[in-house]
Amino acid sequence: MSSSRRTQSERQFERALKVIPGGVNSPARAFGAVGGHPLIIDRGEGQYLYDIDGNRYIDFVGSWGPHILGHRHPRVISRIEEALKKGTSFGAPTLLETELAELVTELVPCVEKVRMVNSGTEAAMSAIRLARGFTGRDKIIKFAGCYHGHVDSLLVQAGSGALTLGTPSSPGIPQGCTADTLVLEYNDLDQLQETFEQQGDQIACLILEPVVGNMGVVLPEPGFLETIRELCSQNGTVFIMDEVMTGFRVSMGGAQQRFGITPDICMLGKVIGGGMPVGAYGGKSEIMDTISPVGTVYQAGTLSGNPIAMASGIATLECLKETNPYPQLEEKTQRLTEGLRTAAAKSGLPHTLSECGSMFTLFFNPDKVTNYTISARNDTDLFARYFQGMLDRGIYLPCSQFEANFTSAMMNDDDINQTIQAAGEVLQEIA
Ligand SMILES: *Cc1c(COP(=O)(O)O)cnc(C)c1O
Repeated sequence: MSSSRRTQSERQFERALKVIPGGVNSPARAFGAVGGHPLIIDRGEGQYLYDIDGNRYIDFVGSWGPHILGHRHPRVISRIEEALKKGTSFGAPTLLETELAELVTELVPCVEKVRMVNSGTEAAMSAIRLARGFTGRDKIIKFAGCYHGHVDSLLVQAGSGALTLGTPSSPGIPQGCTADTLVLEYNDLDQLQETFEQQGDQIACLILEPVVGNMGVVLPEPGFLETIRELCSQNGTVFIMDEVMTGFRVSMGGAQQRFGITPDICMLGKVIGGGMPVGAYGGKSEIMDTISPVGTVYQAGTLSGNPIAMASGIATLECLKETNPYPQLEEKTQRLTEGLRTAAAKSGLPHTLSECGSMFTLFFNPDKVTNYTISARNDTDLFARYFQGMLDRGIYLPCSQFEANFTSAMMNDDDINQTIQAAGEVLQEIA
């Protein structure tokens, strides 16, 4: 399949460029890192995406995480239709909000109470404010390469490995917004301990992705999460796990369940909305009751807890709970990643692959990726060629080396075999 089979997408993207900045409503969708123009999607069905030229792709993006059950899952669609008949929004409580909150508190270890918002970004912004309000402290710790949405105070990268006092990584963020953000290297225990020794009593919260998805998949080294839990408890620092990507993904109860480390607060998004815009933050009642109207930390949302979005989330979580697709999904993913490893080894290209549950990244990097400094050395030109080759063979991958690939419960043996076969061809071609 060459780009000549994507003429409608090309034409319609030119049209979008005239009225939408860069033609996209989120920069992650632009093909800046891989070249060419994005596909314009017509529809999804199970594990497949169809573009407006009628081409079919095996989808490893899954709307960047939400579609663990695949597109248009019948249970999710019928719950949404049922809710639609009653109206789209009321600005007053519905039963659906309580139902989804009950499911989340039942399934996610740290959550006793939960507040719904509309995106992961909003959840991050609110969780940070809550932690600061609860502790009466200003400083926050984040890790280089972890993404928590486009929140001012969190849009900070570190220099290469050094403990950096936050410098904003986007114009439009006043220096003051990031002045209290300490950026540490992921998996660096010494730096972590030193930081807490020096300023532990000033740190409101520590926020991290318990398995990183946003510098490609990077796992916490043994002891990393344990040490964080200990240091936060000793210093009265709120431990926030950003489970927007890992929640209901790396296990039913997220990374906190998979690794057995319970944070004080966690953020959720993506799978929790089953493809509708939902974010959430929840945790210990004692902390959650600091937000208004019980407490004084203000946070609100006209469309928060939207009934259509809640219906989609409820159906998704209920289906996950009843079918427990995780063991099979993980087995399938492992078959795929084994195939990819073998293909990459045959090609002789520098590579390393990391995975957790149904998320994985094939890095074009000779070294194991454990932090942002190492991930920054990935060969992005090789990745771009790999991406284009896979796209031509009907495999839709995230259009950046620094993203996680997701498998879905709908994928079958043929999909896996087809993907391994395609990767083998492409990797030979670009080697
Ligand atoms: C996607 C993501 C976010 C941001 O969520 P949005 O809904 O895009 O605002 C935050 N944190 C993590 C870990 C994410 O993967």
